[in-house]
Amino acid sequence: MTINPSAPASVTAAISLPRRIKRLMDLAYNTWWMWNPSTLHLFADLDPQLWDHLNHNPVKFLRVLERAKLNAALADIIYLTLYDKVMEQFDAYLKEQNTWFNVTYPQLKDKTIAYFSMEFGLHESLPIYAGGLGVLSGDHSKEASDLGLPFVGVGFIYQQGYFRQRISEDGWQEEYWENVDTADLPVTLAKTPSGADVIVDVELPGRAIKVRVWEMHVGRVPLYLMDTNLESNSPQDRTLTARLYSSDLDVRITQEIVLGIGGVRALRAMNIHPKAWHMNEGHSAFTIFERIAELVKAGYTFDAATENVRATTVFTTHTPVPAGNEAFPLWIMDKYFPHYWERMGISRDQFMNLSLINLGWGDAFSMPMLALRFAEHRNAVSELHGKVSREMWNFLWKEKKEEDVPIRAITNGVHTGSWLARRMRLLFERSLGADWYEHLDDFETWASLLSIPDDELWNVHRHLKRRLQIFMTDRARAQWQTTHIHPVQIIASGSLMDPNVLTIGFARRFATYKRASLLMRDVNRLLKLVNNERMPVQFVFAGKAHPADDPGKRVIQELYRTIKRAEFAGRMMFIEDYDQNIARHLLQGVDVWLNTPRRPHEASGTSGQKAAINGVINCSIADGWWPEGYNGKNGWLIGDEIPKANDEEQDRFDSESLFDILENEIVPLFYKRDEDNLPRDWIKMMKESIATLAPAFSTRRMIKDYTQMYVEAMKDSG
Ligand SMILES: *Cc1c(COP(=O)(O)O)cnc(C)c1O
Repeated sequence: MTINPSAPASVTAAISLPRRIKRLMDLAYNTWWMWNPSTLHLFADLDPQLWDHLNHNPVKFLRVLERAKLNAALADIIYLTLYDKVMEQFDAYLKEQNTWFNVTYPQLKDKTIAYFSMEFGLHESLPIYAGGLGVLSGDHSKEASDLGLPFVGVGFIYQQGYFRQRISEDGWQEEYWENVDTADLPVTLAKTPSGADVIVDVELPGRAIKVRVWEMHVGRVPLYLMDTNLESNSPQDRTLTARLYSSDLDVRITQEIVLGIGGVRALRAMNIHPKAWHMNEGHSAFTIFERIAELVKAGYTFDAATENVRATTVFTTHTPVPAGNEAFPLWIMDKYFPHYWERMGISRDQFMNLSLINLGWGDAFSMPMLALRFAEHRNAVSELHGKVSREMWNFLWKEKKEEDVPIRAITNGVHTGSWLARRMRLLFERSLGADWYEHLDDFETWASLLSIPDDELWNVHRHLKRRLQIFMTDRARAQWQTTHIHPVQIIASGSLMDPNVLTIGFARRFATYKRASLLMRDVNRLLKLVNNERMPVQFVFAGKAHPADDPGKRVIQELYRTIKRAEFAGRMMFIEDYDQNIARHLLQGVDVWLNTPRRPHEASGTSGQKAAINGVINCSIADGWWPEGYNGKNGWLIGDEIPKANDEEQDRFDSESLFDILENEIVPLFYKRDEDNLPRDWIKMMKESIATLAPAFSTRRMIKDYTQMYVEAMKDSG
């Protein structure tokens, strides 16, 4: 793939920038700026308020920015120097031939790896993600670009995306949706080799719909994002790809048909013929049908087609509990796939048997099981999740012992450049060497971090904490001005946040298994902790519950009611409408990152990894990635690894353990200061945490691991 460094002509014609800095538009149309802080400043410095107001969307920003601000930049020699430097780096990045992949696998550099995902979480300005799965896909794509993989992503552009969250005075989550105009996003219509728009047909019951394809550039990597919002489709069909994770079964299966079947057709229309096909979670498993049908049409038998598909397919599972795995009732499969089995050269019953499962409520067609059966290369997303998956899916390989079930583990990581605070990055650059970013997964490089002077690290951390405070008070102020809000909600939003107080962050989806309410099992103990006169503690929460998840919403409500209580003195806070912007502020600006899932429900989790690289210390249940990360000196482990008799017992045990750790270890360590008012032992733990976790849980390491699977798949493709 070669990515054109220029913004589309249609856009440059519509928005005229001064000649001297007109390539700002090229930067806006490639998401590379998202992990290059000086580029970000090329935008932000032109008008910081507008930049924040537009949720850091450079395409929209350049369109509405006042001409006078651009003219001012033209007279600013510092700005122009930075501009020239950034443009040079950008062009060099896109042109680079000696990437890690090309150097390591020169024989494979002209092949293509296609990566399918329901969501891509690249940035808050691109509302095409809901949560962890999307953020992983986004980070995966960015790192695939950094390492030079011949990689393309396939997914959706949603007109409305995931819902926005508001919390009522009584703590109830309210959802609303906002329309996004594709003209405000860094996308253009994808083109066929002959220059036509890429539009593919997908058959649905009684009709065929048109699917349109957009192209977005993530550094060196193209993402192809589909939607159905075309005039030639019926009004109802135009909304099929408006929202993420609908609860409507017909919408869900249609989206997965568009992703799997439409996605393959879209690649073919662009003359892209991948040698490795990666399905990130089971949503895209219908790619298997389409690829088998293609081969059968070309003359293969079903079995030969299957062999071919299996050898070249990679599947990542993310679900550690059987109930979380998606399955469609057979009646809906019958509704959506009549005659499709013919194309695959099999009967209806053979077709259904490809992935038939009985889930108690009747026969169903399991998406992850289909993916496991038809992907030769399979992985779970942490060591523990690997073990759980091998146990859970052992029945598919009855002849094998559990430890031999062919699902390996590749633990998730985070894209360092996207999540690391700029000030922290500058500090690392000084102590780890100017080329540290080239050695992200090298433990030795990170070991030099121990030599950073304590006060320097602490000052950066304090700066980030103050930034979080400003962020929260700004949001509270905006809420106060613009909506009908009860005054107590301004307190709940964090307007009394004190940057000198030990601050604990908890931000994630509000599913009940994540147990945000663990702390509220003992409100008196919590009150004592928060209101300790000499050593107070404050908690900041954020996160959404799926609109159909009432138990999850009740957890938010219980929490919010607690937060509002005057006895808590404004030291418990909830930031509404969790997104990547809030995530970044929180996990860069708190002292401790709290993670309390019910083991082993958290397949990996990545927010704690993002926190760790910023010097925030993890306090977590031994679930997901943490058993691999924790070494006894780089954070805290809540509870133990021995399962208790039932959920109630487990919650009681874990909550007591959490309080013990907070009272006896975290609070005293944070407030123990020397004559310079520095918490030396705390800083030591911060350094230990960064140095041990940053190299292990970076997507740099992760993508190199995935590349092994890609290489196996590409070799098998002949
Ligand atoms: C990182 C991130 C997640 C995933 O974090 P978990 O630890 O898996 O909960 C979810 N949402 C946003 C906005 C994130 O940035």
